[in-house]
Amino acid sequence: MNAAVDWLANQRPAMQAAVATLVDIDSNSHDKAGTDRVAQAMLGWLHSADVDAEHHSDPSEGDALLARLPGAQPGAAPVLLMGHRDTVFPTGTVAQRPWRVDGDRAYGPGVSDMKSGLVLQCFVLMALRRLPPLPFPVLGLFTADEEIGSQRGRITIEAHARGARAAFNAEPGRVSGNLVTERKGGATFTIDVTGRAAHSGMNHADGASAIETLARKVQALHALTDYAVGITANVGLISGGMSTNTVAPSAQAKLDLRFCSLPQREVLFERVKAIVDAPGVPGTEARLTQTSEFLPLERRWSGELMQRYQASAARVGFAVDGEFTGGCSDAGFTASLGIPTLCGVGPVGGKAHTDGEYCCLDTLVPRAQALVGTILSLAD
Ligand SMILES: [Zn+2]
Repeated sequence: MNAAVDWLANQRPAMQAAVATLVDIDSNSHDKAGTDRVAQAMLGWLHSADVDAEHHSDPSEGDALLARLPGAQPGAAPVLLMGHRDTVFPTGTVAQRPWRVDGDRAYGPGVSDMKSGLVLQCFVLMALRRLPPLPFPVLGLFTADEEIGSQRGRITIEAHARGARAAFNAEPGRVSGNLVTERKGGATFTIDVTGRAAHSGMNHADGASAIETLARKVQALHALTDYAVGITANVGLISGGMSTNTVAPSAQAKLDLRFCSLPQREVLFERVKAIVDAPGVPGTEARLTQTSEFLPLERRWSGELMQRYQASAARVGFAVDGEFTGGCSDAGFTASLGIPTLCGVGPVGGKAHTDGEYCCLDTLVPRAQALVGTILSLAD
């Protein structure tokens, strides 16, 4: 263990330079060339440290970079290190506000969500490569569509996570310094209502208002919110109608649902379906389409790993706890397969998805060391 942790102790300048390199690459989820360039930079570091890695590039979004450290015991369940190469920032953001350091803080698009997390995972793999093989393989899986819902990423993640002994996702450590041991799941839906147009003055009674049907359904959907158990329903976008003097022939709403557990999800989805299927204004019809989904990270899947991480962090010299967030991440996909999962193992950072996003550079090395220790503890 010490060989890996000691090596990391001297990697602060290299890690910082690596984060700077990644931050200065625009890599919006839809910027295929950008997410490819992030993969190329990561491959360069991994290959230079003799870590097996390949980028399964293809022309569309959401491909994966896969790294692999072989295990000593054939067939042993692997450890999975995860991250996403995409950011929410449009191409051109780097030109406006590139990587910048002020004291202990670094700024720039995606610096904490999650360019610094990607670097941490690479350096953890490079550190472990310096040790004799662990009993189990260690996989690094770095996708490129998390910020737009992980539609393809989820398939790759689930394929590699099935049967893993643990998964660690490199979303940023919280502003408090904590990791994330609990996350909400979330799903988005579109509700399309069709009705019948009519002149609102001459033949109002011949019309069937899609807007009225949708309005009733929005009220019923919002009534699903139950703060006490962590369920929220939010129609955040609505559109419809043709003109003020036309009975609306169509209307559309976009719904965001959040929930804390898989059992909650089952009940909630049934209720949403029932609300949309319920009869509205005669002559109107409503259709429900699910557009995306993240699954929840429940504490039952993170608790034991968190204890291991805390012990490892204590050896490195810092105290840390786990906390809850309503935001979603890829960690829910592994946890929902029953894989012990920790999220927020990246360097500490804040203000993600804003101009003020920052990363605490002093946490680069200790967080990597703590993760190495946690992984090694799984070999005991
Ligand atoms: Zn993220």
